[in-house]
Amino acid sequence: MSKSDFNLSHQNKSIESKIVASLERIAQAFRVLLWQEGKEFALTPIQVQVLIFLYYHSDEKCKVSYLAHEFNMTKATISDAIKALEQKKLITKKPEPHDTRSYIIGLTAHGEAVAVKTSMFSKEIFKPVDKLHPDDKENLLLSLLDIIRHLNRSEVITIQRMCLTCAYYQSSPGGQKHFCSLLNQPLRTSDLRVDCPEHLAK
Ligand code: SF4
Repeated sequence: MSKSDFNLSHQNKSIESKIVASLERIAQAFRVLLWQEGKEFALTPIQVQVLIFLYYHSDEKCKVSYLAHEFNMTKATISDAIKALEQKKLITKKPEPHDTRSYIIGLTAHGEAVAVKTSMFSKEIFKPVDKLHPDDKENLLLSLLDIIRHLNRSEVITIQRMCLTCAYYQSSPGGQKHFCSLLNQPLRTSDLRVDCPEHLAK
């Protein structure tokens, strides 16, 4: 019998495979929601994602090479998305002071308004998460961070800016207690960050 997570004979006997299949459904929901949100502005899912990323991140991350790593895509694919956003007058490009071959991508006023509006695309996923018991939220967050860390270590996904991959992060031997040596303070589970502006890669 195939051990594929999607072989129902195997899946129905394996809680691990049911979790993997559930995560796949959620990934599908994200894709559907991104398409729906982008339709109003004739944007593709990656164009919406780039726009939202540009709005919420600092200048040094708003470059083609960084975006390519962030979204695990080629520079050519990201450049195409940037070109389309520029034609729609949603972004601007300003030269990089120390590198004439590179540029920093910013948002126009219209681009900012579209980024704010489209960044609500995940609200239907937020609703059931919001209803979980606080303990279940903490367990879910820890489990997801652990899965992301594994995917990062296995080089499936590249850039991560979460506590578990940060040089400032320390944990107790059992991993129950967390500490940030930059903030110089303990972190509760709910304080652990998925995307931290101060993250320093190990
Ligand atoms: S700097 Fe940010 S990512 Fe790093 S441990 Fe502190 S809070 Fe977490």
